[in-house]
This record gives sequence, structure tokens and C-alpha cells, in this order.
Amino acid sequence: MYSAYIQRFLERNDYINVIPRAALIDMDGTLYDSMPRHARAWQQMMAEVGIDAPLDDFFRYEGRTGASTIDILFRRFFRRGATEQEKTDLYRRKTELFAAMPPVEPMPGARDMLEFLKSIGVKRVLVTGSGQNTLLNRLDTDFPGAFTHDMRVTSRDVKHGKPHPEPFLMAMTKAAVAPDECIVIENAPLGIEAGNASGAFTIGVSTGPLPLKELEDAGADIVFPSMEECAKALPILVYSLVTTSRNLN
Ligand code: MG
Repeated sequence: MYSAYIQRFLERNDYINVIPRAALIDMDGTLYDSMPRHARAWQQMMAEVGIDAPLDDFFRYEGRTGASTIDILFRRFFRRGATEQEKTDLYRRKTELFAAMPPVEPMPGARDMLEFLKSIGVKRVLVTGSGQNTLLNRLDTDFPGAFTHDMRVTSRDVKHGKPHPEPFLMAMTKAAVAPDECIVIENAPLGIEAGNASGAFTIGVSTGPLPLKELEDAGADIVFPSMEECAKALPILVYSLVTTSRNLN
């Protein structure tokens, strides 16, 4: 059913096949329906320093570290980079605004997706650009046992955030797997770009205002219109991955 997508992926990466042993899973907008609140917190914090950016922009910056997002906005609106002090202070303010908003809910379908991966023995690794404890501290409660502490990559672990592949490559090292043994599950264009650059089969899940086309253009190997659809399709997709080898004719 998905063999055309898989063939295209195998050819592009020069792989023989993909045997998923680890799933590298984003947090905001993938496990939690948190992006609308992040976007509003970002927009409000930036408005306080005189930057008036449209809400959708923050869905496009999603995946970057906070410092990188602040720096980009400063360059765009003030024609200079942000100082280290500004990055620290403003990210703290954004975190404060986010924490003061009502708690976010797990993304519908996320638990089913995680349960399925567990049932077939695929390691689950968290790969997030976030360093905010508000959500990181809730993972054990909302998704019990899904991500052991040695199977988490957060903004504190990496030098380069998404769209750089470093977070996903680090996750592969933690799980002791190669790129052709991984799937990436991501909602954001920059996260998809990073997943793609890491050499993993990258599943784009649209859970926000950005059109599916933006996720495809970012390099998703396949896209789903919601996490529920993704969770429903995953058994057949994984079966297709395991049973499809590159057509060498
Ligand atoms: Mg995300």
C-alpha cells in the first residue's frame, strides 16, 4: 500500500531496505497538542519587545531552540542578532507565559501510536527542541514508561537544534541503531527537514495550521492529516517497510 513512498525513500538514500528498530518521536505538536499555546506565548513575548509577528510564523519556527528563534526574529525585525543575555531573558519570559496558560492535553492518537510501537518491540526515543520542564516533567505521567530517561534528547543535549540533523543522530546513538533502522515522527517542517537529513524514514503528521504540502516540501517521506490517522496507519506502514526491498531493476 505504501510501497511507492518506500521505494522513493530507498532510492534517494541508497538503502536496500528499512527495518524499524527505533522510532524517534518529537514532543510538541506530536505527543502534545501544545503548539497553539507555544505560538501564543511566543507572539505575546515578542510583542512585549516591540516585534509584531504573525501567529503562523511560530509554527514555522517550531523545532528550533528558543535561542535560535529569538535570534532569527531579532535579525528580521531589528536587523541585528540577539545578545546572549537577551536570548536568556526572553526565553525565560516565553517559558513563563507558556507555563501560566492552561495545561495542554496529549495529542489524540499519540498513546495508540506509542502502544503499537511498544507491542512490536520498537524502541521509543524522544527528540525535542524543547527544554521546558512544564511538559518534559509530565511525560512519565501522560505516557507511562514510554521514554526512559536515557532515551530522551532535549535542547539541553545538542549543540545544533533542528533543522540540523544532530538531535536525531544523537537519538540513533542512544538507541544504538543506524539511520535505515529508524522512523521519525514529526509535525513541524524544520523537524521533518532534520529527520530527512539524518537519513531516517520521516513521517510528517499535520496537527496544526500548516498545510500538508508544507510538510511534504520539507522532505517528509509520507504525511498524515492527524496523529489519529498516523496511529491507525502505522501497523500497515511498518509492515510495508519491513517487507519492501529496493527495486534494483
Ligand atoms: Mg513538534
